[in-house]
Amino acid sequence: MCDESAEVPGPIRSVVTRRGVLAGAAALAGVSSVVTAADDAAGAVRRAPDRRFPGRPPVPPPLVVEGGPLLDPLTGRVVEDAVVVLADGKVLAAGSRARTAAAVQEVSGRARTIDAAGGWILPGLVDVHVHVNAIADAVGVLMAGATSIRSGTSNFYQDVAMRPLPRWKPGAVPRMRAAGVFVTPDLGDTVLADPDLAPLASLPDGVRSPEALAYVTRVNLSRDVDVVKTRANPRAGIPQQDPLELVYDETQLRAVVETARRGRAGVLCHAYSADGCHGAVRAGIQSLEHGVFVTEETLELMVRRGTFFTPTMGAVLGLADSPDPILAQRGREYGPVLQAAVLRAHELGVPVVAGTDTFGTATRSVGSEVRLIGETGVPALDALRGATTTAARLLGWEDRIGRLVPGHLADVVVVDGSPLDDLAALERVQLVVAQGAVVRDDLAA
Ligand SMILES: [Zn+2]
Repeated sequence: MCDESAEVPGPIRSVVTRRGVLAGAAALAGVSSVVTAADDAAGAVRRAPDRRFPGRPPVPPPLVVEGGPLLDPLTGRVVEDAVVVLADGKVLAAGSRARTAAAVQEVSGRARTIDAAGGWILPGLVDVHVHVNAIADAVGVLMAGATSIRSGTSNFYQDVAMRPLPRWKPGAVPRMRAAGVFVTPDLGDTVLADPDLAPLASLPDGVRSPEALAYVTRVNLSRDVDVVKTRANPRAGIPQQDPLELVYDETQLRAVVETARRGRAGVLCHAYSADGCHGAVRAGIQSLEHGVFVTEETLELMVRRGTFFTPTMGAVLGLADSPDPILAQRGREYGPVLQAAVLRAHELGVPVVAGTDTFGTATRSVGSEVRLIGETGVPALDALRGATTTAARLLGWEDRIGRLVPGHLADVVVVDGSPLDDLAALERVQLVVAQGAVVRDDLAA
């Protein structure tokens, strides 16, 4: 990742930080004799400290959620008076009382039982575009029913650091696909996120060359991100910026996509303008974010390439409520265009997924995003799939989340009413179980 030649300020430092690589060079320079045994031992401790935690991850106790109708978003099937049995962080059984009786027996005496009669039992929801920079941000998203999320970038790799938390504290934050830092021309304080970003401060025009774009992408991959986020256009939520200008064209985006692909990471791309959306899809992105002025031609290309569409409707429509007149006008203009694009995308067969584009603790619920997708004319079950099975496929977790079937992970929400009759029911969350832990329970109240 680093330019090795820039890492040789002196013999001791080079021995400490890059001993394996530089041992030969140091010997050639005749400096090996200055390295004492003590230096060598200290270097070894600093270089490869024992980072094993002296303890084991906890296992959440079994849990039974029973009494409400259970909806499977994949099939659309509803089982009345259903039972869901969770054990060891997974679904042990889900379905009718007869089908689940043996599993209930297996956990009896150890399990807590939650009476969900009156509510609808669903798999935990997925928010595929959300920004979490603090635990409180992630908790807000979780309380709204999103037990899995795909990060849309964090400022300083907080998403990468948050990703393992649920293993050590079930229910702490949602399951996460991490994006690391935004691949964008002006990194600003983001250069402080990793020492390897420092060379980018030397670029007078910012991160624009294919080489620089590939470099930032590689820094992200070195931090073990799952996905990479970049852009074709400026932001819509800043009055001084024109979201229809082009920031990165197809060639530039291709540098990000191809570098990310070598690290087995898909790319999510923020785009508004017709040419921005088209260049991004041609470059091979995995999902188009916002996409207000996406054309019919681009939607057809998305079908052929399997590109997902994350319209972030709450974020775009919400501009109309802005106190800033430019943003309010933008929201009024963009809203109907985006609504038409979402319905057309669905009709053509583009997978439409739910992303709130939430920042901070001012959470828009993933349920409201599903409702807004439904209000375009997309059928309720298909809109719900955008936050369950289709979203699970985008995250590469279709065998783990998005349904309540044996072997899937122990993420459950209960909502007040049938989402098939009224998607607004998804905004009335009564229970959230994440990683087998109850994190919200309004049913008893
Ligand atoms: Zn975003």
